[in-house]
Amino acid sequence: MANREIETLEPFHEAIEEIRQAGGAESGRFCYQCGKCDVYCPWNRVRDFSIRKIIRQATFGLSEIEEEDIWRCTTCGSCPSICPRGVNQIELGVSLRRVATDYGIFPESVRSLRAARGSLTSDGNPLSEDRQRRADWAKGLTVRPYREGMEYLYFVGCYYSYDPRMRKAAVATASLLQQAGVDFGTLGTMESCCGESIRKTGGEEVWKALARENIKTFIDNGVRRLLVSSPHCYHTFVNDYPELMVRFEVVHISSLLAELLAEGRLVANEGHPVRVTYHDPCYLGRHNGIYEAPRQVIERIPGVELVEMPESGAESLCCGGGGGRVWMDTPKGERFSDIRFDQALATGAEVLVTACPYCITNFEESRLGREGESNLKVMDLTELLWAAVSSGEGRIAPSQGGSRGR
Ligand code: SF4
Ligand code: SF4
Repeated sequence: MANREIETLEPFHEAIEEIRQAGGAESGRFCYQCGKCDVYCPWNRVRDFSIRKIIRQATFGLSEIEEEDIWRCTTCGSCPSICPRGVNQIELGVSLRRVATDYGIFPESVRSLRAARGSLTSDGNPLSEDRQRRADWAKGLTVRPYREGMEYLYFVGCYYSYDPRMRKAAVATASLLQQAGVDFGTLGTMESCCGESIRKTGGEEVWKALARENIKTFIDNGVRRLLVSSPHCYHTFVNDYPELMVRFEVVHISSLLAELLAEGRLVANEGHPVRVTYHDPCYLGRHNGIYEAPRQVIERIPGVELVEMPESGAESLCCGGGGGRVWMDTPKGERFSDIRFDQALATGAEVLVTACPYCITNFEESRLGREGESNLKVMDLTELLWAAVSSGEGRIAPSQGGSRGR
């Protein structure tokens, strides 16, 4: 937006001041425009995009909050990790989205966010599902309601509770915990979305309301230790909820499974030789430093060979689902998950394993969307392990489609 135009757009004056004052924009002052962030940003593999330019504009309060570009960042964490000036590009981008949200300015491609926001407010999930059906994934299993004194509250998460594809991973998780004799329970219909992704889209008030609701439920039920499947739940419980003056012990399922295998409480059976590759979800790896536990789980399955993709660990290529992008339209040709799927195929692996509902949703989409049937299966870490634990032959069952599209 040019300066002259700003002067004529009265409603934007307040927004401009808010952009200047937004917490994240502060760190933008240190940016010396080296452009390193643009080199690392995965968007520049699929189209023109400059976070450097957005930072520059935000520093002067000149951001184009009506433009689609402020909604692109997947909050993958790559550019903050390499910025020589310590600029917090993610926080800055979220600040702009917060201002756009306050003014109700949404470009066409992100209008679907409104549905997610409405459903989060009315039913505690972003998938337009009935709160009363949140525990349906566990039908037929003997999953107990959480009671004070239990070892873990298994916080299932929205995608694992409702999405037909991800429910299989929730079932595998519960089965593994039961097999290992872990004392756990769930909150059933009392569980609400953790709020991580809506916060990244600028929905600060929705995040706060969800977080307060969950915190009250945790405290009322005497919860001390949370077990989570989604790296996004992990991230917000560990890094964001303490802003509301609470701190719970949080364990990601991959860490617990690695421990249970090491202690011999879970035993993976010898199976047919299979080559797998592991994709590090941004919010498990780069944001929270959990790289080893999922690999330890894979390596403890006899017959499984782990091969790494070229960009793995801290350099992992984002699937494109973070920052609320999982709810937005990404046209074919601009999907990072397609590039990542090709990288996985190039390793010669038969299974692409990961540990995040957004990554699996996007990879299933990449698998189903390509011409010709791909032989590369997509599996959650828990599905891979449960196949080996539950079968005398350690067979790895093919993962089925049925995930939500973008
Ligand atoms: S890497 Fe850091 S200093 Fe360089 S342009 Fe990006 S934000 Fe600015
Ligand atoms: S966090 Fe990731 S997606 Fe967002 S601007 Fe930085 S590199 Fe690009």
